[in-house]
Amino acid sequence: MDYEALLEHARAAARPVLGRAAPADYIPALARADPQAFGMALATVDGEVHGVGQWRTPFSVQSVSKLFALALALAHGGTALWRRVGREPSGNPFNSLIQLESEQGIPRNPFINAGALVVTDALLSLTGDARAAVVDFLREETGNPGISIDAAVAASEAGHGHRNAALAHFMASFGNLHNPVDDVLEHYFAHCSIAADCRDLALAGGFLARHGLRADGSRLLSRSDAKRINAVLLTCGTYDAAGEFAYRVGLPGKSGVGGGILAIVPGRGAVCAWSPGLDAVGNSVGATAALEDFTERSDWSVF
Ligand code: GLU
Repeated sequence: MDYEALLEHARAAARPVLGRAAPADYIPALARADPQAFGMALATVDGEVHGVGQWRTPFSVQSVSKLFALALALAHGGTALWRRVGREPSGNPFNSLIQLESEQGIPRNPFINAGALVVTDALLSLTGDARAAVVDFLREETGNPGISIDAAVAASEAGHGHRNAALAHFMASFGNLHNPVDDVLEHYFAHCSIAADCRDLALAGGFLARHGLRADGSRLLSRSDAKRINAVLLTCGTYDAAGEFAYRVGLPGKSGVGGGILAIVPGRGAVCAWSPGLDAVGNSVGATAALEDFTERSDWSVF
């Protein structure tokens, strides 16, 4: 497979939409990103890596971190987590409060903000340091000790985090947060504010392509749990447009408002595309276009 040619073609497919959409601005530190920026990288299950464009430029991973937090919480604590968070698409924006009241503080899925706050709370209880658990995992899977939290982005999120604070307090009122709300928020903002590049994320997503095995061959998750995370990524990983993403790209994936999308091809590898311009629901238009082209032209598919 000529991965370099496929990635170049995907970059060309994304080019017409670059600059057409604006970066997220509800977190002021993210608004400064260049809407023309684009990078893409893939990592095979054997660790072969290819990239194009600004694939070595770190960006704010934002909600892509939610998938690592979930995997680690399941690895440390097992499936009891599923009593506190559901597995259904929400049909609402990622930061919506609407369902929480009628559903007794149990978030619809681990990839909306409310669900990720519960996952972060669980990971904090299990490890004592949710933020470090995610950063350390990324460093270990990628061999890149430079991966770290962007303190300016974390501070910007905290300074404009009223909605996340509201979600967290609301769930605490139902007994679905076990740690102090401020601690949960701090760890959540921190792991969302990790700066990593396309190569890093493609490598770090490898455990889901290897059916639960880490880069060093040790087991993080059972094959069954890896399958389940991929399934929930397909149905819930790309905000309130997971159906459209499944239609266009056809892969389990997680997007973030930093413009990154990490997609998994079980048995083959992981591919990450990044461009900061977002559509109305929060998915990167450039990354989605590139991934769509890549899956249309390669045999990296689950269908
Ligand atoms: N930290 C961001 C927030 O809580 C994550 C949003 C996202 O990437 O979906 O709003």
